[in-house]
Amino acid sequence: MIKINHVAGQRRYTPTCEFCGEKLGTEDTWYDAVGAVKKAGWASEKGTTGQWLHFCPDCARHLGMGGQK
Ligand SMILES: [Zn+2]
Repeated sequence: MIKINHVAGQRRYTPTCEFCGEKLGTEDTWYDAVGAVKKAGWASEKGTTGQWLHFCPDCARHLGMGGQK
């Protein structure tokens, strides 16, 4: 998931692994957070609720999602 945090009244976006809770750096925009996910080689998958799920490379491998390095 991409966690939305409020810092000093502004939104910040932190990509977080659904499975182990590992985090990437906090970004200023949703767009940047999605870019960071891709750059780090994390896997994204649309969940049954239509919400995007994100997994770090270790968990993606563990869950057999693979495909991305
Ligand atoms: Zn993980």
